[in-house]
Amino acid sequence: MNEMPQCIGCGTVIQTEDKNGLGYAPASSLEKEMIICQRCFRLKNYNEIQPVSLTDDDFLRILNGLGQQEGLIVKIVDIFDFNGSWLPGLHRFVGNNPVLLVANKADLLPKSVKEKKVINWLKREAKALGLKPIDVKLVSAHKGMGMQEVVEAIEEYRNGKDVYVVGCTNVGKSTFINRIIKQATGEGEIITTSHFPGTTLDMIGIPLDDGASLFDTPGIINHHQMAHHIDSSELKYIMPKKEIKPKVYQQNPGQTLFIGALARFDFIQGERSAFTIHAANDLPIHRTKLERADSLYEEHKGELLAPPTTKHIDQLPPLVRHEFSIKEAKTDVVISGLGWVTVQHANVVVAAHAPKGVEVFIRPSLI
Ligand code: GDP
Repeated sequence: MNEMPQCIGCGTVIQTEDKNGLGYAPASSLEKEMIICQRCFRLKNYNEIQPVSLTDDDFLRILNGLGQQEGLIVKIVDIFDFNGSWLPGLHRFVGNNPVLLVANKADLLPKSVKEKKVINWLKREAKALGLKPIDVKLVSAHKGMGMQEVVEAIEEYRNGKDVYVVGCTNVGKSTFINRIIKQATGEGEIITTSHFPGTTLDMIGIPLDDGASLFDTPGIINHHQMAHHIDSSELKYIMPKKEIKPKVYQQNPGQTLFIGALARFDFIQGERSAFTIHAANDLPIHRTKLERADSLYEEHKGELLAPPTTKHIDQLPPLVRHEFSIKEAKTDVVISGLGWVTVQHANVVVAAHAPKGVEVFIRPSLI
């Protein structure tokens, strides 16, 4: 039998036997030049995802494989979910290969954010996590911002070798690669993209000018990402889609801000201060007294405090409290995958509550 073709969407090898298995396509489709598997077909046409079975072991195997190749690794992270979209341990697998760190979704940052500060923050964080990227670039794959520069950087750093694009699901890896293909060839979508995490399954190679290839590697599902605790019908409310408009709240100690039912931000101690919330524009913010916050949450989560709404609130892990004693004025308290709150004054104590497993940390303001 001839070697089976690959799906033009996800790259997985096509099979025609098992309807529920990966890469299934009806036998009749084998006559076509461009074959798309059933899973990608459904996704493309119905925006509907079938469950993926990329286990953590599979992903480790792929990472291990990368270390044995020679080429440039392009690692994509979501600036809104830096920690949630990090691939822990990547630096141990890449061997001597250079890593270009690309932070995506720059279009969501408010205009007041300084690119240089974002890049410096990314460099510091990467280093703290054990990775020394050859360079750091900020892009919007969706809008095309910064893409030309990245394409040039890839050309420079790959030095005639292959390119491996890695990233966890939902960072915009498919959008990024589609954008590169478009810039290179003028063609439209070749790789599947979607709203739903976990959609790019197998390695797919895109030929480059000089005989080398650019490989899309499967995205691993990082289980602690906020997006995985939210029902897909409600994801659109928490994932920002447009440039974020900061919302300013003048707060006194003893006050609390709820961001839907997803997070809570307590002002415990300090002088009256402005707190600037950077999160999806449609997320409702609710202000209350700290002493009432626990009971309000218990009584009204899913209703007054939403999303998630009553129907899906049980999927959300319980909120965990993280206390910070902030010394410097203009410090961001970041909740991975949701956004951040800039505390404008120095010497305040705050507590951020976020779903269990979701990372919460502070950094100097990006503004
Ligand atoms: P993948 O799972 O990493 O391949 O991610 P996709 O390319 O499917 O994108 C995941 C989600 O992020 C989709 O809803 C995209 O529309 C969105 N997305 C991708 N790139 C960008 C970007 O540059 N800006 C914004 N705002 N959204 C993006």
